[in-house]
Amino acid sequence: MLKAQRKAYVPFRHAPFLLRPNAVTPSSPLDPIKLLKLSADTKNLKVGKTIHAHLIVTYQAIENNIIEVNSLINFYAKVNQVSIAHNLFDRMPERNVVSWSALMTGYLLNGFSLKVIRLLKDMVSEANVSPNEYIFAIAISSCRDRGRVDEGRQCHGLLLKTGFSFHNYVRNALVSMYSKCSIVQDAMGVWNEVPVNDIVAYNSILSRLVENGYLREGLEVLGSMVSESVKWDKVTFVNAFSLCASLKDLRLGLHVHGKMLTSDVECDAYVSSAIINMYGKCGKSLMARGVFDGLQSRNVVLWTAVMASYFQNGCFEEALNLFSKMEQEKVKSNEFTYAVLLNACAGLSARRNGSLLHGHSEKSGFKHHVMVGNALINMYAKSGDIEAAKKVFSDMMHRDIITWNAMICGLSHHGLGKKALLVFQDMLAAEEHPNYVTFTGVLSACGHLGLVQEGFYYLHHLMKQFGVQPGLEHYTCIVSLLSKAGQLNEARNFMRTAPVKWDVVAWRTLLNACHVHQNYGLGRWVAEFVLEMDPNDVGTYTLLSNIYAKEKRWDGVVKVRKLMRDKNIKKEPGVSWIEIGNVTHIFTSEDNKHPDYGQTYQKVKELLAMIKPLGYTPDIGAVLHDVEDEQKEYYLSYHSEKLAIAYGLLKLPSEASILVIKNLRICDDCHSAVRLISKVTNRVIVVRDANRFHHFRDGRCSCLDYW
Ligand SMILES: [Zn+2]
Ligand SMILES: [Zn+2]
Repeated sequence: MLKAQRKAYVPFRHAPFLLRPNAVTPSSPLDPIKLLKLSADTKNLKVGKTIHAHLIVTYQAIENNIIEVNSLINFYAKVNQVSIAHNLFDRMPERNVVSWSALMTGYLLNGFSLKVIRLLKDMVSEANVSPNEYIFAIAISSCRDRGRVDEGRQCHGLLLKTGFSFHNYVRNALVSMYSKCSIVQDAMGVWNEVPVNDIVAYNSILSRLVENGYLREGLEVLGSMVSESVKWDKVTFVNAFSLCASLKDLRLGLHVHGKMLTSDVECDAYVSSAIINMYGKCGKSLMARGVFDGLQSRNVVLWTAVMASYFQNGCFEEALNLFSKMEQEKVKSNEFTYAVLLNACAGLSARRNGSLLHGHSEKSGFKHHVMVGNALINMYAKSGDIEAAKKVFSDMMHRDIITWNAMICGLSHHGLGKKALLVFQDMLAAEEHPNYVTFTGVLSACGHLGLVQEGFYYLHHLMKQFGVQPGLEHYTCIVSLLSKAGQLNEARNFMRTAPVKWDVVAWRTLLNACHVHQNYGLGRWVAEFVLEMDPNDVGTYTLLSNIYAKEKRWDGVVKVRKLMRDKNIKKEPGVSWIEIGNVTHIFTSEDNKHPDYGQTYQKVKELLAMIKPLGYTPDIGAVLHDVEDEQKEYYLSYHSEKLAIAYGLLKLPSEASILVIKNLRICDDCHSAVRLISKVTNRVIVVRDANRFHHFRDGRCSCLDYW
């Protein structure tokens, strides 16, 4: 009995007899128009269809009732049934502007921008109703969402004939469309055409300009806000701070901060993180910290913002220290926090801290976050553990362009050119579009492999195919590629003809090649040239001095030393460090400050004695000083990397690989010594010098003795 009653109630849950037009007044809560709107808002297809059925029964020819049909179109459009809506629209003998806008909104919401534009055109050419400002705003928004600039311009053309372009609503849609499609001149043109500006319009164009990197135009807009005395609100301040951050303009940033403090705008988390970000980007991490410390309540966004400001300014340890504080205060990290911290570890080459964070991020459920994965690859690659980086890469469920670039560049940096090119092939197969950074990694991989032809193919053809304009980094890779292949004259000619302004790095690449390939004549010429560009470049003095020493031209060595003395240039002392447990041990050349120095010296001596029978002879050409040979051998023996490696061999378990980081380029002598040490001790030894990683294994190095 009860069941039957219920059944009678459904589907007309709203008592169908009440729906009869003569039974309700228009303002009644059960008016079908209102019910249709409610069904549209709550996306209740069933109720809406019931009302539709009811209306068909009620009226002889429903299509003649414009208001009801418009409500039905609106309803079907909002519940993703645009084709039904269009059908109703087609059958209407007469339509008003609401009919058109309801259907167009439906197409806009469902992503069919071409349909929206087609309808606008139909309306203009056929209909006896003219489009109003809302119709134009819908059409322009659909062009914006789909990046259809040409259609957007057509709408704009139609608009100009109607006079609606002065409508705020339409104008904002136009500005937004042009700036989203990166046509800033047009966006600014629309902006300048219209004299009346309100705060919403100002904020909308300012944020678009800053987002899309049109900073000069952003400044103009901010300037006109000041000259027209428009009162700034919270959004304006946040936009202004991001503008200062992007411009790295501290003076302006301080000015805006001052203006904020005297305004009545509340400094909530949203505003504070914009201020912290601004100070960080302007190189003032202490000021960022000051703002942070002064806050009453601090959420994860603020913690992360201040960590990021430390990271951007190279204060990696401070960033990591804040993390433990944040944990003490029981603030939960998010994916951005992990990304910032892992990148800080990458900057420090702090593998231990990095892998602790890795575990931490997995426990907190951020394991499969692309941003965290990318930061992990970067951290492992930069701290010497390329195998761990590869593992993270292959375990990732989703990858983006940054993921691919991090893996390709990481492999390339480790001298694993072949693997880098294989990953590049996979990337193309996955239909990911390579960009500027990708090709830097790819060309540098070609450099490691000496693939001259392939390098030029990528530079001249593939990059063009993908629309990437070659830049200094790419051209420098080609110089390095030719240099490595021993084609020094070709490299020099390439430098003469390539359409780029070379910097010291490129010239030093050629200089280094002259040193390795013993083309001392060209080397001296290049060195003089580099020193003209940068008279304080320590690396070049060292290489030039080494070249003279190798030629046994002690007069040249003396000349270089005198030059350095005159200019008060000091050779940076060699420093190497090794992490054991959670302690970092630092060694300098001829180090006697380390507590275990006696033992370490003894170990180096032993190692050198072990490799002598394998053909090791100290490369005394590499010593700067003009001293007796025996003395030179002594200087070489205790270079910092040898000490750090010996210490690692003493302290680490026998199966562990050894990772040493050095501030300068590893010298020829240490390189050949470490190669042999890896053989006699049967260890994997990784040295990261100023240029790259060297993986020593079984008497060979991954750089194939070219670095
Ligand atoms: Zn050395
Ligand atoms: Zn090497």
